[in-house]
Amino acid sequence: MRIAIISDIHANLPALTSVLSTIDELGVDSIYCLGDTIGYGPHPNECVELVRERCAVVIKGNHDSGVTGETPLSYFNDYGKAAILWTIKSISPKNLDFINGLDFVWSDETITLVHASPNDPPAWNYVFTLNEALESFRHFSTELCFIGHTHVPFIVGEDSSVNIFRPEFRCLINVGSIGQPRDGNPNAAFGLLDTEKQTYECIRVEYDIQQTASEIQKQGLPSLLGQRLFRGV
Ligand code: ZN
Repeated sequence: MRIAIISDIHANLPALTSVLSTIDELGVDSIYCLGDTIGYGPHPNECVELVRERCAVVIKGNHDSGVTGETPLSYFNDYGKAAILWTIKSISPKNLDFINGLDFVWSDETITLVHASPNDPPAWNYVFTLNEALESFRHFSTELCFIGHTHVPFIVGEDSSVNIFRPEFRCLINVGSIGQPRDGNPNAAFGLLDTEKQTYECIRVEYDIQQTASEIQKQGLPSLLGQRLFRGV
């Protein structure tokens, strides 16, 4: 089975549609979404509708939770807060209901999905360092755990290996961000897992960044949210 794992779309429709085209070309069996479908970007309704239609599993991220009111606005920086307030005004009641109904964690026999960290998912802890990643293994019991949140892709094995997928070890994998990459590469990122071949790769996809940045400007969202997309920071 080939599974695409997507995260942190952040209401960036050009990035999402480019990634979905790539996913369709690759012929995956299932798409899982790790949350933050909305926030920062100018296309919340289109992105929620596509995710609802295309993804077999969707969980909740901190920006989703900010829009539903579960995570207080004081948690977010000024740019995040401005975008959440704009999203609250722009999202349809049906799409808000969908976001509201999402869970913080999903798992089956082999895979755990969580937006930020398996350690207390609604606390939105960041996993940046190797030590933070290794500590996380105590908080899930499956072979694999997929996360997003930092927008920086990585693979950490329970043997302390970094950025090598070794299926004989349990792995914590950050799939990166579709709508706002922050690893210096502006291309959208997502993960592709092949459970039969036992392979995993992070795939990067070019998209029309200018289109998203222009729409951010047009909607009166903070222009920095568009500018940062060109640099992938
Ligand atoms: Zn995010």
